[in-house]
Amino acid sequence: MTKMIKSNMPGKRLITFFAVIALIFCSASRPAPAKAENFEYFTPIYNFPDTGSGQYQCVFNTYLPEWQGFHLAIDMKRPAGTLVASVLDGSVVGCGYMQSFGDKNGPGGAVIIAHQNKYGETFYALYGHLKELEVSNGDTVAKGQIIGKIMELENNYGVSNPHLHFGINTQKASFVGNTGEGSADGFVDPYIYLEQTCKTFLCTVTTSAQAGGTVSASGTYENGETATLIAAPNKGYLFDGWYENDEKIEGADANYSFIVKSDRTLEARFTPEPVLTVKGLSVYGPMTSGDPLYANIFVSGGTAPYKYAFYLLKDGEIVYKNYPSQNPYFTCYPPEAGTYTAIAYCIDKKGTKVSERQTVTIRA
Ligand SMILES: [Zn+2]
Repeated sequence: MTKMIKSNMPGKRLITFFAVIALIFCSASRPAPAKAENFEYFTPIYNFPDTGSGQYQCVFNTYLPEWQGFHLAIDMKRPAGTLVASVLDGSVVGCGYMQSFGDKNGPGGAVIIAHQNKYGETFYALYGHLKELEVSNGDTVAKGQIIGKIMELENNYGVSNPHLHFGINTQKASFVGNTGEGSADGFVDPYIYLEQTCKTFLCTVTTSAQAGGTVSASGTYENGETATLIAAPNKGYLFDGWYENDEKIEGADANYSFIVKSDRTLEARFTPEPVLTVKGLSVYGPMTSGDPLYANIFVSGGTAPYKYAFYLLKDGEIVYKNYPSQNPYFTCYPPEAGTYTAIAYCIDKKGTKVSERQTVTIRA
């Protein structure tokens, strides 16, 4: 049986004076983790702002002599009654009251929620030292949904100040809080994990085109999302490249995909297509009648595909022709001695036609 989820978002809440209990467990002087400000994006603390200093009584993987093990979570020190919220959407896979999260007065509440990171990978967040649990096993929860409150704490392994024990395990739903209690496998630093695998933000990709083409795919992307830019040259132009800060991006094709990690401004540049030009005509062979005569035309520019033609004339009469050909080289056999004219043509896709001719003397 799962119970119905209540939308439990109080409109306002009175935070009354509370005494900060001076019982320090790990160390009051331990500095707040460097990424605390980013962690706000995923805070499991609902109604008590995260001001950093003094509120982190234990960072991840601290060695605890009392436990003879490492603390596999962070402890967020807040007054008893502080609402605890799910850091992301998820489903409850572990829930209950147990002595390891309680104190001398009895068991304490703990909840494990299976969440997914932005890559779709499941991980398990443990929220411990709770009272008045609002969820049950199998419940679906939303980011920010209240799952319980921080409980009063009197002597839990020597600790007597209320706090949220918040851990993340990437492999298993585990109530383990330190290596003294069980396997440390899969436990990761919650700050770093959430920052690196869950945080998304929007990036703007701005594209523009120089003369000769058009571009697409300007817009906003979530960081980690793949953007595919398309540069389309106009007729008579070729795509030159994508440029950023006036520098060409190596390896970026007209269809350019990349993972968006920051704002980017990219410009597609195009160049006019080079004109089809003959570079030369080479005619060679034994130059004797009846033997093979080879011809090869060389061109540059233009637009593929190309077609070629070759004619051999003697006294204005065509004695050999080959048209059309996909190849720029030809073989023919001049039948008799004399003076011939070899003519080779190239026609590109756009119909541009170029030719070259050469006089050839064939001996008997
Ligand atoms: Zn803890």
